[in-house]
Amino acid sequence: MTAPFVPPTISHSPYAYLERFPFLSTGQIMEESKVLVLGGGPAGLASAYMLANQQIPVTVLEKNDQVGGICMTRCYKGYYFDMGGHRFYTKYAEVEKLWYEVLGDNFLTRPRLSRIYYKGKFFHYPLKIADTLKKIGLLETIRSGASFVRSKILPYREEQNLEQWVSNRFGRRLFSIFFKTYTEKVWGLPCDQIEAEWAAQRIKGLDFWQVVKNALFRPKKTKIKTLIEEFQYPRLGPGMMYDAMVEKLKAKGGQVLLHHTARRIRHDGQRILAVEATADDGSHEVFEAEHFVSSIPLPIFVRQLDPPPPEPILRAADALKFRHLLTVNLILDRDDLFPDNWIYIHEPGVHLGRIQNYKNWSPEMVPDPSKTALGLEYYTADGESLWEMSDDQLIELGKKELELIGIAKRSEVVDGCIYRVPKAYPVYMSGYRKHLDLIIPYLRQFGNLHKVGRYGTFKYNNQDHSILMGLYATRNILGDNIDIWAVNSDDEYLEQRSVRDSDESRERP
Ligand SMILES: Cc1cc2nc3c(=O)[nH]c(=O)nc-3n(C[C@H](O)[C@H](O)[C@H](O)COP(=O)(O)OP(=O)(O)OC[C@H]3O[C@@H](n4cnc5c(N)ncnc54)[C@H](O)[C@@H]3O)c2cc1C
Repeated sequence: MTAPFVPPTISHSPYAYLERFPFLSTGQIMEESKVLVLGGGPAGLASAYMLANQQIPVTVLEKNDQVGGICMTRCYKGYYFDMGGHRFYTKYAEVEKLWYEVLGDNFLTRPRLSRIYYKGKFFHYPLKIADTLKKIGLLETIRSGASFVRSKILPYREEQNLEQWVSNRFGRRLFSIFFKTYTEKVWGLPCDQIEAEWAAQRIKGLDFWQVVKNALFRPKKTKIKTLIEEFQYPRLGPGMMYDAMVEKLKAKGGQVLLHHTARRIRHDGQRILAVEATADDGSHEVFEAEHFVSSIPLPIFVRQLDPPPPEPILRAADALKFRHLLTVNLILDRDDLFPDNWIYIHEPGVHLGRIQNYKNWSPEMVPDPSKTALGLEYYTADGESLWEMSDDQLIELGKKELELIGIAKRSEVVDGCIYRVPKAYPVYMSGYRKHLDLIIPYLRQFGNLHKVGRYGTFKYNNQDHSILMGLYATRNILGDNIDIWAVNSDDEYLEQRSVRDSDESRERP
C-alpha cells in the first residue's frame, strides 16, 4: 500500500530560480508540473502513468515523434515492426498487473520457437542436447568434449572476461560455436574485452552439466518453463502497450510532449531546478518541477548538467560506451518462410545478428497473409560503416545477406524500410563499473532526481526492470525510499533466478 500523496515542503519558491538566471523571463517558463519526466520509454511512461493515477500533475518530454523508446513499434504501409522483437516477460507482480491493466485482451500469449543458425544448420535454442550433437556431428562432438574436459582440468583461474567465464563452463569449442560470434557482433568487441560480470548476470547458473541434466530429466511444467515455450505480446507489437499507457495517463490529466528534447538540466548542487528543452520547431522551453524523473542516457544527462559536474565525473560519463541497433525491415512475397519467431545468426561471414519473423509474433502484424515481414537486426556504433550507410544500401545489404545464408532469395523482397535505434545497448566493457562508481554518488546528491531506465542508469535492463524502476521512482516521490540503482544489479536478486530463467527467458545477449 502506498501512502497518500503529501506534497513535499518547498524550501524555496520555484521562481527563486529566475533570480539566479535572470536571462530567463517569466514568460519563458512554459510548464510547471509537480513532476517532469525525461524520456517516454517504458521507464518514464510507467512512472508518469502511476503519477497520473495518483492525480499528481506530470509532464513527459520525449524527443521522438512516437513514445515507447526501444519498445516502440513502427507501422510501415500497414506492416508493424518492432525495434528488434520484444517479448513480455516478468517475475514482478506489479509490472504484470500494470501490463494487463493497460492492455487487457489485447495482450496475447504466443508460442515460441527460436533457433541458432550456424554453418547452414538450425540449432534449437535453448539448446537441446540430442539436436545439438546430431547437428555438430561426431567429430565436432569429440573435439568439444575434449575441450570441455580440458577446461575442467585447466580452467582459467580468474574469470575476468566473458571468454574465460563461458569457456570454464562449456570448454573453448562450444564457446566458439554458441557464444563467440553472435556476442561479438552485438558488442563490437572481442569476448576477452567484455566483463565477466555480463555473463554472470545474463547466463548465471548455466553450465554444461546443467544443460545435460535438463536434457535428460525434462523439467516439470513450471511457470518458468511455460514462459520459455510461450510469451506474452501485444496484438500489434510492444508499441501498442506504450501508446495505450499514454492515452490512459492523458485521460487522468498527465501530459506527453513529443518532439521535445531535453538540452540543459539546471541545478543548485542539491536539487534539480529546471530543464530546458527544444522542440522540433526550434522553440525553446523551460520546465520547472518539484521532482525530476530521468530515463535519458546517463552520459548525456551528466553532460547537460548546469553548472557542470567536476571534471572526473564528466570524464567518467564520456567513458561509458553504447551500441546502436539498426533494423532492416523487409517484406517478402512468400506466405511462409520459417516457423521461428526469431533466429540467431551465428554465421561469421555476415553482419546480420538476428532475424525476426513478425507474423509469427502476431499474425496481425502483417496485413497481407500472402507476405512475410522480416526484421533483420544489425548492431553498430558511431563511425562504423553500417551506421553511415544510406537506407537503400542497407536494404541491399539485407537482401544480399538473406540470400547468402540461404533464408530467402533477394528477388522475393518486394519492399523494405530502415529504423535506426541509437544507444540501444549499454556496453559492459572492462572498467565500466569504476566509472559508474564515480557518477552514481555524485548524482545521489540531488534529492529530487530519480534516475531510471536502461541507458538512464546504464543497466542492461529488460523492459520489466525499466518499468519497475519507473514505478519505484513514483513511490519515492510519494515518500518511499527505494534504491533504484539496485534494481537488476545485486547478486541476491540474481541468485533467485533458476537456470532456465536466467538463460532463456530474458533478452539475449
Ligand atoms: C534488440 C533488442 C531487443 C530487446 N528485446 C527485449 C525483450 O524481448 N523483452 C524485454 O523485456 N526487453 C527487451 N529489450 C530491452 C528493452 O527494449 C529495454 O529494456 C526498454 O526499452 C528500456 O526502456 P527505458 O525506458 O529504460 O529506455 P528507452 O526505451 O531507451 O527509452 C528512453 C526514451 O528517452 C528518450 N530520450 C532520450 N534522450 C532524450 C532527451 N534528451 N530528451 C527527451 N527524450 C529523450 C528516447 O527517445 C526514448 O524514448 C530489448 C532491447 C533491444 C535493443
